[in-house]
Amino acid sequence: MVRAVVGANWGDEGKGKITDMLAEDSDIIVRFQGGSNAGHTIVNDYGKFALHILPSGVFYNHTTSIIGNGVALNIPYLFKEIEDIVSKGVPRPKILVSDRAQILMPYHILFDKYEEERLGGRSFGSTKSGIAPFYSDKYAKIGFQVSELFDEEGLKEKVYRIVETKNVLVEHLYHKELIDPEEIYKTLMEYKEMVAPYVCDTAAYLHDALKNGKKVLLEGQLGSLKDPDFGIYPMVTSSSTLAAYGAIGAGIAPYEIKDIITVVKAYSSAVGAGEFVSEIFGEEADELRRRGGDGGEYGATTGRPRRMGWFDAVASRYGCRVQGATEAVLTVLDVLGYLDTLPVCVGYEIDGKVTKDFPTTHELKKAKPVYEYLPGWKTDIRGIKNYEDLPENCRKYIEFIEKELEVPITMVSNGPGRHDIIYKNK
Ligand code: GDP
Repeated sequence: MVRAVVGANWGDEGKGKITDMLAEDSDIIVRFQGGSNAGHTIVNDYGKFALHILPSGVFYNHTTSIIGNGVALNIPYLFKEIEDIVSKGVPRPKILVSDRAQILMPYHILFDKYEEERLGGRSFGSTKSGIAPFYSDKYAKIGFQVSELFDEEGLKEKVYRIVETKNVLVEHLYHKELIDPEEIYKTLMEYKEMVAPYVCDTAAYLHDALKNGKKVLLEGQLGSLKDPDFGIYPMVTSSSTLAAYGAIGAGIAPYEIKDIITVVKAYSSAVGAGEFVSEIFGEEADELRRRGGDGGEYGATTGRPRRMGWFDAVASRYGCRVQGATEAVLTVLDVLGYLDTLPVCVGYEIDGKVTKDFPTTHELKKAKPVYEYLPGWKTDIRGIKNYEDLPENCRKYIEFIEKELEVPITMVSNGPGRHDIIYKNK
């Protein structure tokens, strides 16, 4: 049985916490897309961790963590993260790396930086982790699969061939120091040493595991609105953030994914540039940012302050739909206990007409939020375990959102910890 945990919004919905929780009842956890560009923050019995490339299941003894073929694999980063958690007392996790995953090359990070510099004010707000250059190369068929590390002769020839074309851009577009192919080859040989003990055909491993009734959890990064097809293109990420891509990025049959647990944030936040209809500013935004998440809304990878906004029912319903959500989890609800009134964006006004459908980017640019206002509950809901014990106005807010989402909310998260969860409709 396969379940996926994915985000309905712009990322930072709290997927890490939900994956960590569901991992307890899973055998295998798979990262299927993205790289070290976004982070999950997890608070558990070992402490507080920001994971970027490791699957969130690494904290359990009984689980196997897989870096799937769809991931942008930053090998030194992966090993830094493993050593970091082990140094903090977490038992060394069992990790498998797909032999078909591609390697994030040192020059991908350079190109990301150079391009952002070149674009200046017109930049995409990249995290400069090399993700866009990585996926560009993958689809231009000039990427390197992990398996290629084990064919040294072929590898050397390919490195020289590809670096030659990269250096044309380095010299003539970016005017930077040329890349040395020998240096790249040497680095790849170091990568090989690091990754060799973990490499296997993870798709075959998953195939056998599923035949033997194992429980698999797919862990998505970012959210629907950052998907390159269905998100706010071009202010999106470079690999699909949708559960459907989980089948490809992990290497399993699509029909194996039985449950698509879509994480929805009780208010909105976004990192980087791009359309954000229910965004708020000034003191109102500062207060929500300060109170948000676990110790404020700042990017787990970049430390950048996140942009803040009210709950956007139009974007979230669409976000659930494109994920194919079978259930929704509403997170960080505890943060909203200070508000007298909670605005909820229920429509977009575009050229004088109100719509409830999430449009393409050029229409979205013109959209103005249409709000409904719900009364606040003015208490701290942390520590509450039963749905019935939540204040009435809080339940009304949840049920209002559930109706707007058109997906059952099965869990409500009321704190960052593993056990801060309230089950509903189950
Ligand atoms: P992810 O990328 O979707 O995993 O999200 P992040 O980990 O970047 O951001 C979520 C932040 O909210 C983290 O700091 C979590 O510890 C925190 N968090 C998750 N769920 C809750 C919750 O229900 N309440 C509060 N207050 N914080 C939460």
